[in-house]
Amino acid sequence: MAGGRWFSDMGTILIRDGAVLTGGGWVEPGYVWVEAGRITAVSTTPPSPNILAQADEIIDAQYCAVMPGLVNAHTHLSQTFMRGLAGGRPLLPWLKERIWPLQAAFTPDDARLAAQLGLVENLRGGVTHVVNHHKVAASPAHTDAVCETAVASGLHVTIARSWTDKGVNAEPAAAILADLARLFARWQGAERLHIASGPLALWRCSADTLRRSHELARRYGSFTHFHVAESQDEVQLSLNEWGMRPVAWLHDIGMLAADTQVVHAVWVDEDEIRLLAQTGAPVVHCPVSNAVLGSGIAPVAALMQQGVPVKLGTDGPASNDTQDMWETMKTAVAFARASTLDATVLPPAAALNMALSADALHPGAPADLIVVNLNHARAMPVHDVASALALSTRGSDVQTVIVGGQILLRDGQVVGLDEAALLAECRRAVAALRQRAGLQ
Ligand SMILES: [Zn+2]
Repeated sequence: MAGGRWFSDMGTILIRDGAVLTGGGWVEPGYVWVEAGRITAVSTTPPSPNILAQADEIIDAQYCAVMPGLVNAHTHLSQTFMRGLAGGRPLLPWLKERIWPLQAAFTPDDARLAAQLGLVENLRGGVTHVVNHHKVAASPAHTDAVCETAVASGLHVTIARSWTDKGVNAEPAAAILADLARLFARWQGAERLHIASGPLALWRCSADTLRRSHELARRYGSFTHFHVAESQDEVQLSLNEWGMRPVAWLHDIGMLAADTQVVHAVWVDEDEIRLLAQTGAPVVHCPVSNAVLGSGIAPVAALMQQGVPVKLGTDGPASNDTQDMWETMKTAVAFARASTLDATVLPPAAALNMALSADALHPGAPADLIVVNLNHARAMPVHDVASALALSTRGSDVQTVIVGGQILLRDGQVVGLDEAALLAECRRAVAALRQRAGLQ
């Protein structure tokens, strides 16, 4: 794709005859009118010939769902270069033997290519906002390469700059804070790009640097995003070091708040769930990754019952191994029910809501929306649109993605991107990366 942007110019778009998610629920056939980057009308009335003549682009959405885009609330784009390497290892050996050595061998160009590949995968699956826990913070050039790619993609991207000040790849606190401040100053406020603090995990971070980085993020209207209580090993490390479980310790050091995103929360007890609810700290649930790594199943039904906000994420492709949010929705429903022996918990519409970037398409809102094909054997018949989406859909069913009124995916093709060339470039880069990392 060689530096170009991936999206169309902003035009006037009519999306017609689809099942449209409105503030009042699904309507079909529905019509969505987009002008100057915003949704200007959502209607059940067919447009007049006059209006039709004004459209720069008309998208036929018959037998399709027309809805807000999805948020992948936790992934690691760099891990697109590390798929299939878990090899049956549990979390900590997998990190130490596979992920960290490869990460250490990344060049800025590898970071750029891996991010492009990962963003294409998310875009193809209908994700309009990607939260990238950016794990290759080896140099400012690595992070800037990912930020530049994010801006070129046209997607909303949050880069949660990862850091650790204890153990392997530790950085001095002053260097972490200086680089975060640099990133906020340079990139925060760039169109559709957001920066956040992304501590790696509790056991790799000191309380003092956690607090200071969180205060810094707050000054820029941002937040902290990190792995918490992912595995039983981690709970044991926390008990050994602080005499407290992970979420309890976070609360103890004053870090638990609505602007602290708790990724995983697989191993949280009732008291910790209450603390999450009291402080409004959102949990990002990554059921596929938690299962692949043998970490466990997060108590989503209990979290929701207590009023903890729950979002969905795929986690990185090294532990998933895809970034398909539809698969994540279905897995969330299945695991919530299997783990409670209760088929009434987490209805499909609730799982879908956890993944949506907005509750519905509203006139006046930015035109961030997707068109999803439901006219295939896997979804037929569509008795209930939310069920068809949460239980029968795959990423490849997404036909069109529009962000801010610009078309990023049209008829299943990424606009302005030579995808075959990108795949070839990634293949070459990964071969060289494996050699540098000593992984043959
Ligand atoms: Zn992760």
